[in-house]
Parts: sequence; C-alpha cells; structure tokens
Amino acid sequence: MPMSEEFQGRLLNRLPEITSYFGTPFHIFDEKGILETGEGLKALFKTVEGFQEYYAVKALPTPAILQIMQKMGFGMDCSSPSELIMARQLGFRGEDIMFSSNNTSEALFKLSAEDGGCILNIDDLSMVERINPFPKLICFRYNPGERRTGNAIIGIPVEAKYGLRHDQIVEGYRRAKDRGAQRFGLHTMVISNERNYQYMLETVRMLLEIMEMVNQALGIQFDFFNISGGAGIPYRPDDKPFDMPALARESAGLIKQFSLKQGYAPRLFMESGRYMTGPHGVLVARVINRMSKYREYVGVDTSTWAANVRPAIYESAYHQITILDPAGRPRQGAQEVVDVVGPLCENNDKFARQRSLPRAEIGDLMVQHDTGAHSPAMGSNYNGWLRPQQLLLRKDGSVELIRRAETLDDLFATLKYEVKVLK
Ligand SMILES: *Cc1c(COP(=O)(O)O)cnc(C)c1O
Repeated sequence: MPMSEEFQGRLLNRLPEITSYFGTPFHIFDEKGILETGEGLKALFKTVEGFQEYYAVKALPTPAILQIMQKMGFGMDCSSPSELIMARQLGFRGEDIMFSSNNTSEALFKLSAEDGGCILNIDDLSMVERINPFPKLICFRYNPGERRTGNAIIGIPVEAKYGLRHDQIVEGYRRAKDRGAQRFGLHTMVISNERNYQYMLETVRMLLEIMEMVNQALGIQFDFFNISGGAGIPYRPDDKPFDMPALARESAGLIKQFSLKQGYAPRLFMESGRYMTGPHGVLVARVINRMSKYREYVGVDTSTWAANVRPAIYESAYHQITILDPAGRPRQGAQEVVDVVGPLCENNDKFARQRSLPRAEIGDLMVQHDTGAHSPAMGSNYNGWLRPQQLLLRKDGSVELIRRAETLDDLFATLKYEVKVLK
C-alpha cells in the first residue's frame, strides 16, 4: 500500500508544475499525511493517560518537519549533539526532549544539561557516576539480553551495544537514587521496521515487569516507560500495515492491570520515526538515460547514496516506483524488467533491481515511494554527489522549499582551512 491514494491524488498531477518550478531531483513530504498519522496516533492512545510521542529526529532532521510534530504536541527524541541543538533552536525544552545517546562523551552530557536540560536516558551503568550534576529525573535504557531476541533488523540483544544488562538494571536505579534522582523512567528498543505489533506489545509487557521488579527492590515508582521506535511500514504493495489500534488497545489493558496491582500507572512514551513520516515522503527524479547492457537500465538524475541509500545498503529494502510521463500521468502498458540506477561509481547504486515497470522514456519522472524516514537522512556525499533539495506539500496545497540542495561550495567548504603542520 506504499504512497497513499490521497497523497498520489494531491501530488502526481501537480508534478509537471512543481518540477518546472523547483527542478529535479527532490524529496517531497506531505504535511496532511503526517498530520493525519500523528493525530491518529494521539486518538488511538487517548485512553492511555499521559501518552506522549517523541518523534525520532534522526528519521528526518529537517526543521519544517519537526515543527509539524511540535504543532501536534510531540516531543523530540534526540541522540546526537546536532539533533539536540536543532530541537532547542526550535524551542523544545526540558521534558520535550528525550536524549538517548550511547558511548556518550562528557562534553555531550554537559550539552544535554544546558538550556533547561532534557530527559536523560542513560545507556550504561558506568555513566551514573560520570554525570555531574546528576539530574532529578533520570531514565535507563534496558537491554533484555538472552531474555528475548529482537527482530531481524535490530539483531540479537546480547550483541547490541545499547543499554544496561538485566542484572544491572536494579543497581542502576539504586545508584541513581543515591545520587539524588527523584523521578524515574525506563526505556528499551529491541525492534526496527517490524510490522507485527505483537513484538511491541511484548516490549510493553516486558517493561511493566521490569518496573514491578525495580519497585519491589527499591520502592520507587516510575513516571514513565518508553517503548521507543521500530513500528514498521508497508514498503511492498502486499505488506500488511502495523496494527497500531491493536497495540493501543492491548497496551491500555496491560497498563490497567499494572495499575490495579501496583496502585499507580506510569505514562507511556513512544519514539516513532518511520511510522510517523516514512509513507509521507517520495523522491522525484528525472529519467536521463535508457541503457542496454547484460541487463536493461533506466538511469535517473540522482544517486541512491545521496537521495535514498536504503535500497543500496540493505539487501532486503524495497521502495516502490511509479513512472510518470512528462505530463505527470502514470505510464501504463507493457512492463519491462529493469535496474533503476544513479550515476555513482559503485555497483550498488540501484534504486531497484530487476524490477518490473512500465517502459520509462527519457524525460519521464521516477517517483520512489516511502522516503519520508531514514532515506535522505542516511545519505552521504560518497563519490562527491550532492544531496537533493527537500520540499513540503502544505495542507493548503502550496509547495515550500524546506531544505535546499547541496552545492559544490558546501562540499568544498571543509577544504578551506588554516594551514596547520606539526613539525
Ligand atoms: C532510531 C531510533 C528510533 C526511531 O526508530 P524508527 O524505526 O524510525 O521508529 C527511536 N528511538 C531510538 C532510541 C532510536 O535510535
């Protein structure tokens, strides 16, 4: 079910006009779709008192997108200095920000405490002694280890570099309490791009158990628990979507049971990135070549590494493609099997491999679906190709530039420096 019918209806027939004004290539994001997904999430979790989404900034770190999240009352999930700084520049403060770093430097802990601080999510037991001053509100990232396995993408928890071991978690809260912490949270992330909601429900169940265990040992109650991100989206036409209504309903039930037994209910936090924006973005590129080698090739005017690196680096990543004629009408008719490629000197620069598509002519547009999360954000300048501009289709129908294309000056900027030689 990739790009929704509604998004197609809003966008495809406008593409000739948009491409002639902005040129190609570009990513374009759909404000209406993002708002509907976000408002939908809030509505589903209405029965969970204090539910809060923290959008995972790394999925699409562009201010205009983060401001849409802000309007919906969402917080920011940050994990690097630049993400923290960007969130603060937009006015996010204190408990609007979940900061989940790992292998964290002292300088980064300092930065996280500035400007009203944030909710600090500690990733290792050793960090408890190293944070000065120690915050009143503290969260630990839990790694369940052998107790369960994650899904294929995130791998096996015992091999993951994140979080406190099961046998360390009580000790973490004990030390935090000794250091003056008064409010507590619990976090974990054990799945990625998982469309079976049962995995996430299992995370809810697991974290509720851990909070009960910590409470028994130390007598502390929790402000919140954070099941983080990992809810998947249907990239392939016959993929089933993540059943968010079922997750909301069954989580509410588990929290209710917990509160009957424990006498209080912690808030539920979530850090969805892909689920929030993934389906609400597409890459638009121009077909510039048709080439016949041992395979048939359709070449477009941007590269995977610069524009959507997922199909290049993940064997299993699939992004649907729609071919439009220059007037913006989807090509119909006879299919051909092609590789859709960029210009990079690297053979995995393929947006699609052996894909059956209607015949694409030079001058046509390639629309690659579901690039709203982790697609432009993961790109790089490898081989010196520039990352494309980003546009936003506003809900009033206007189209706005929200990030300009990179220029050669950007690329060469790090080559301007003062001479520095150690003799
Ligand atoms: C990447 C990440 C997320 C978002 O993951 P999605 O799969 O995009 O939902 C959330 N929380 C943390 C800590 C992350 O590292």
